[in-house]
Amino acid sequence: MKSRFAPSPTGFLHIGGARTALFAWLWAKKNNSKFVLRIEDTDKERSTQSSVDAILEGMDWLGLDYDEGPIYQSDRTERYNEVISELLTKSKAYYCDCPIERLEVMREEQIAKKEKPKYDGCCRNKGLKNGVIRFLNPIDGDVSFNDYVKGEINISNSELDDLIISRSDGSPTYNLTVVVDDHDMQIECVIRGDDHINNTPKQINLYEAMGWSIPKFAHVPMILGSDGSRLSKRHGALNLLSYRDEGLLPHALLNYIIRLGWSHGDQEIFSVDEMIQLFELSSINNSPASFNQEKLDWINQSHIKTTEVKVLISNLKWHFDQLNIEINNGPNINEVVDALRDRSKSLVDMAQSCVMFYNDFKEFDSIQADKFFTKESKLVLVDLLINLKDISSWTAENIHSVNKGICESRDIGFGKVGQPFRLAISGDGKSGSVDISAQLVGKEKTLHRIKMAIDYIDNINS
Ligand code: GLU
Repeated sequence: MKSRFAPSPTGFLHIGGARTALFAWLWAKKNNSKFVLRIEDTDKERSTQSSVDAILEGMDWLGLDYDEGPIYQSDRTERYNEVISELLTKSKAYYCDCPIERLEVMREEQIAKKEKPKYDGCCRNKGLKNGVIRFLNPIDGDVSFNDYVKGEINISNSELDDLIISRSDGSPTYNLTVVVDDHDMQIECVIRGDDHINNTPKQINLYEAMGWSIPKFAHVPMILGSDGSRLSKRHGALNLLSYRDEGLLPHALLNYIIRLGWSHGDQEIFSVDEMIQLFELSSINNSPASFNQEKLDWINQSHIKTTEVKVLISNLKWHFDQLNIEINNGPNINEVVDALRDRSKSLVDMAQSCVMFYNDFKEFDSIQADKFFTKESKLVLVDLLINLKDISSWTAENIHSVNKGICESRDIGFGKVGQPFRLAISGDGKSGSVDISAQLVGKEKTLHRIKMAIDYIDNINS
């Protein structure tokens, strides 16, 4: 038993594709089956290597591992030709040399008569030896199948076209290759976007013409933008990898996309193991789901709070590289991440908050400095320098006692100490608890940065 994800490398791996991949992956995990990644690259003009790379990188980032693949259709041309020859031999396919102009006129006339456009079968009995090759679709009867998501579907053969299975340059088309592959790769359940549902009856006829058993099908509804229109760039990132760049945890994105059109009671937050345990194709909602950025951010934040520190760190690595953060140059990263997780909106936010612990800075944010580095705050910073120097055990509690002592001796509120202190150690004033931050920055660097702040104030006042 196997399932598969079969993207065409003609664009980015987008969020809709990722959701189809997730459903197929979950089905395989749940059924102890194998999961196949197949790259459908027979459209030579539109397929690109960068798109293949983006698919592979996206699958890897999401942790959607495959047991077989990536298998490239472009490596299987011989096999497709073998099947096309067999169909010709069995008189289940025929050559057609109808000029495009004729097909266009026919199409326009059919549309004018409000008929469904389809080839009229003109070349069926001509016994031609060249041109495109068309599948001889049965004329009578109908095709029925029971889709896991859409339910019972029934289409009359009279509505189906004699579809082209081999182009004039001899290259096989999607409907042929997908059937050959799903048969050869023993795919038990074909899970794909519902934009393919009209292809399925034609494909079923192809399976029957070859005498092959027919897989099960699940056609997954589209993801729409928040305004109900087709998801596009203006609704947010289309390329899956830009969600990584924006600071999402991969399992948070999986959690979000599984909830788009699939539910388990009122539960919102799922671990990957829970998804595997609870997922059922039959509970996928049959109506299109709308993308909602706020919900995605909320789910991401929830996972940041609860994800194991070591998993957070491995997902932060990419962001650390972007910010040139070298975690060996500072405090224990486990402690830093643990201190930051509750107030981090995303991994980007968290990585930015890590900068102060690992990277030195030469300047203070000027807007913040105008506000918090005043003549009065210089006195506080001098107090801090003197008293912090004396701390022998550099803990957040002891740092807190120093802060408190200064507030009391100068009879000022915590903000009057905390704000200049925070700006001095962070450079930009953005940090959580100043005591914990100073502890993590370390004694030496904290004292050095306070000195820098004092010099800064002296300079502007000189
Ligand atoms: N290659 C097709 C696509 O990317 C999917 C085909 C299928 O899953 O059957 O839309």
